[in-house]
Amino acid sequence: MTVPTIPELADQIRAGLDADELWAREASRNQGHPIIETGEHWHWQCTEHDHEIEPNPGVKEFIEPDWCECFRVSLRSVEMYPRPYGDGTLPNFALPMCEEVPSAVGGHIARHDPARVLAEVTAKRALLDFALGWEHTFGWFETCYGDPCLCDRDEKVRTVLALLAAPYQTGV
Ligand SMILES: [Zn+2]
Ligand SMILES: [Zn+2]
Repeated sequence: MTVPTIPELADQIRAGLDADELWAREASRNQGHPIIETGEHWHWQCTEHDHEIEPNPGVKEFIEPDWCECFRVSLRSVEMYPRPYGDGTLPNFALPMCEEVPSAVGGHIARHDPARVLAEVTAKRALLDFALGWEHTFGWFETCYGDPCLCDRDEKVRTVLALLAAPYQTGV
């Protein structure tokens, strides 16, 4: 297996981040409303009373409210949208009605809502650009023109990019 070059790694990372961004944006799409560019935040509420549910796997097996007997819950946007008809607002119902959602799974989904994913995409793109922007050594004692790299700039950049690319190379 050949070692991928820095441009190849950068392409893999960009493609992976683009796909993450696309899915997170589409998951934030509430039909008939403009997409929230920074992505929706998601939380769990009971379907009958809109009681907030804080997932706690240590205490509750399933996503369940504390203040009522509801066993049906939904995953909703924190962001509210104008109702299509009449007054008031509604959330986006990401998962409108669920039963017996394991607490750890429900908590994991809410923690990885579109807002979180899009924030990570932004951070990773910035990190990628930062790493690619590292200069070769150019000074009194040592000078590297980059082709081939005689300082350790390329090795450092490759290390960072390989780490960023790793999640997209699971092959599962
Ligand atoms: Zn309830
Ligand atoms: Zn160099």
